[in-house]
Amino acid sequence: MNQNNSMTRDQELRARALKVVPGGMTGHLNAAALPSGYPQFFESGSGCRIRDVDGREFIDFMCSWGPVILGHHHPEVEEAVARQMALGDCLNGPTERFVELAELFTDRVEHADWALFQKNGTDATTVCLTVARAGTGRRKILVASGAYHGAIPWCSPSLAGVTAEDRAHLIYFAYNDLDALERAVAEAGDDLAGIMVSAFRHDVGFDQQLARKDFAQRVRAICDEKDAALIVDDVRAGLRVAKGCSWETLGVNPDLSAWSKALANGYALAAVAGSDRFRQAATRIYSTGSFWSAGVSMAASIATLKVLGSVDSIGYLQRIGERFRTGIAAQAARYGIGVRQTGPAQMPTILFDDDADYAKGFLFTGEALRRGVYLHPRHNMFFSMAHREADIDEALEATDGAFRVLAEHLEQKRRVG
Ligand code: PMP
Repeated sequence: MNQNNSMTRDQELRARALKVVPGGMTGHLNAAALPSGYPQFFESGSGCRIRDVDGREFIDFMCSWGPVILGHHHPEVEEAVARQMALGDCLNGPTERFVELAELFTDRVEHADWALFQKNGTDATTVCLTVARAGTGRRKILVASGAYHGAIPWCSPSLAGVTAEDRAHLIYFAYNDLDALERAVAEAGDDLAGIMVSAFRHDVGFDQQLARKDFAQRVRAICDEKDAALIVDDVRAGLRVAKGCSWETLGVNPDLSAWSKALANGYALAAVAGSDRFRQAATRIYSTGSFWSAGVSMAASIATLKVLGSVDSIGYLQRIGERFRTGIAAQAARYGIGVRQTGPAQMPTILFDDDADYAKGFLFTGEALRRGVYLHPRHNMFFSMAHREADIDEALEATDGAFRVLAEHLEQKRRVG
C-alpha cells in the first residue's frame, strides 16, 4: 500500500497497477494517451455523469466508449439485471432470455433472420468473418485500411505478436473510394468471401466520413454479383444511427452485421445478425464461449432494446448532439478558432485546424476536463438518452472557458513567434 498522502487516489492506483499489470493499462482505455489530468480510474456513473476515484464528477461525452446509451445505471436495465442475477447468470446452458433477445433483436434489425451472441465486438466481427468464409468456401476478406474491427491478430492496430499469415487473406481498400474498392475486388478474384465495412468512417484521429450511398450500393452489388458476404461492423455505431442496422438508413442491407457496445447499456454482450443465406454456415462454425450465453447481460439487452424501442431514440440523440454541435460551432467562431465537427451529431469527432499533433485538441479537452466535462481529443464521442438540454448547456459553459484559454494560448504563441 502506498502511504504517500500527496498522491491522488488515481496516482496511487496507477503506481500499484504498474507493478502488477503490464504498462499499468493497455489498449484504448489507457489514460496515458489523454491530456494530463484525465483520470485512469473511476468510481461510479449515474445518468450522463461519471465520478472518478478522487471524487471529481464529469459530464460524460464518451459513454464508456459507446456502451452506455440510456445513461449510466439506468433504472429499468438495473432492475432487469437484478432480477436475472437473483435467478442465475452463467448456467449449464442459456436462460429463456437467450430466445427472447434473439426474437426481439431479429425483429429490430431488417436483414436479420437469426442472431448469435458473444461478449465483445471483436468476437462479433471475427464470427462474421468466419461465417462468410464458411458460407462461401472462399478466403479473401476486403476491409478498409485504417478501420478498427477489434483487438486480435487479424485486425489489431498493433503489429506486435502478429504474423503476416494472420492477415494473409485480407485485402485493403480506402473507405468510400469506388476505384480502390474495384481494385481490391479484382485482386481477390474468385476467392472473395466478403467485404467488411464499418457503419461510417470513424477512424481515430481523422475527420469522420459518412458512408456515401453510391459506395454502399456498389458494395452491395459486388457482393451480389460475386456471391460474397456484405458485412457491416455496427459495433460502434449500432443503435445510435438507426434502430436497426446503420446501413438501413442508406437503403442497403448486409448479409451479416456485428454488434456490441450499446446493445446492453454497458453489460458485456455482442451479437452477430445474419440473413437466411448464411444460416447454414452459422450452424457449421464452432461459435461459443464460456460466458457467451450468460443471462444477465441478455436481460440487460432486452431492457435496453425495449426502452429504446418505446421512444424516438435516434431523433432524441440527434437533437441533443446538434445542440452541442451548434454551441461548439458558435464558440469556435467567436474565438476565431478553426474546428471541424464531423460524423453524425450523436457521435461527434471534434478536431482543430492546423493541429497535426493534436496539441490544440489536448489543450482544449484538458481545460474542459478541469471544468467538469469529459471529452476526447481524437476519438469520436457518444451521446446517451440521459443527456438533457441543461447538461449540454452546462457543458457548453465549460467548453467556452476551454476555448478562451486556447485562444489566449494561441495569441501568446503568435506574439512570441
Ligand atoms: N469494431 C468497431 C467498429 C469498434 O469500434 C470496436 C471497438 N471499439 C470493435 C469492433 C471491437 O469491439 P470490442 O472492443 O468490444 O472487442
